Amino acid sequence: MKCYVHPEIDAVGTCTSCGNAICGECAVEVRGKLVCRDCLAAGQVSSPDRDPNTAFLIELVGGFFGFLGLGYLYVGRTNDGILRLIIWILYDVIAAIIIALLLAVIVGFVCIPIQLVIQIGVPLWSATALKNELLDRAST
Ligand SMILES: [Zn+2]
Ligand SMILES: [Zn+2]
Repeated sequence: MKCYVHPEIDAVGTCTSCGNAICGECAVEVRGKLVCRDCLAAGQVSSPDRDPNTAFLIELVGGFFGFLGLGYLYVGRTNDGILRLIIWILYDVIAAIIIALLLAVIVGFVCIPIQLVIQIGVPLWSATALKNELLDRAST
């Protein structure tokens, strides 16, 4: 079996992602599995030097602060990362607008009784003051 990139060199194994035979030069070990450089470059597999726990943390914390996909970018899966980043930011903006609108409605409902009191109280005060003034003038 020869390497699919280097037909003159014997393969040391097959890529666990695409199944092609690969030589020692083309093979990259990712967490105990052999993969070819093409698959690694294409983002089919994560970079070998990326710690899964770190990637998990970055994805989790980044996502919480509105930057989902940072973990994917960190391990070199750029396409997945950017896609998640864009979708998550869009979602966050839409969610923020909806929450703001709902809050405005709730605050509005809370204001209704206060407004009702003002709406009745001010005319009542004004009318009473007017009536009293007129009565005062009539009596003097
Ligand atoms: Zn491959
Ligand atoms: Zn090779």
